[in-house]
Amino acid sequence: MKKEIITPPPCHACDALCCRYVAIQIDKPTEKRDFDNIRWYLLHKNVQVFRDLEKDWFIEFITPCEQLGPDNACLVYDQRPRICREHGEPPMLCEQLDNPYLNLFQTVADLDAYLAAKKARKK
Ligand code: SF4
Ligand code: SF4
Repeated sequence: MKKEIITPPPCHACDALCCRYVAIQIDKPTEKRDFDNIRWYLLHKNVQVFRDLEKDWFIEFITPCEQLGPDNACLVYDQRPRICREHGEPPMLCEQLDNPYLNLFQTVADLDAYLAAKKARKK
């Protein structure tokens, strides 16, 4: 169940965390080949994979938006994309209000540990 938002995201006290990555949903991996593809993603610099609180899978590129100003203000605020406008708006949480990761894989070792634990649970 989603948490009820009682306060808006604290954008003025934040280093614009949500402007520093691109996260794209990917198909849930089910086969060996799918996990092998995730291994490949994780071999790249500044790339991570995560499952969100709804168990959906995402690839995340840690790279700041080029429109992020030195004072963390958006340089195209009035024309910013819809995804930026909606981020953190109730009932959605932003990363300052809650940890968005159910599982975070930053390295191949993280993924292997997850798969080993999953296998052990099945025994
Ligand atoms: S929406 Fe959240 S992560 Fe983005 S700037 Fe505001 S407080 Fe920071
Ligand atoms: S367009 Fe503006 S609000 Fe959107 S990610 Fe870039 S800096 Fe952030």
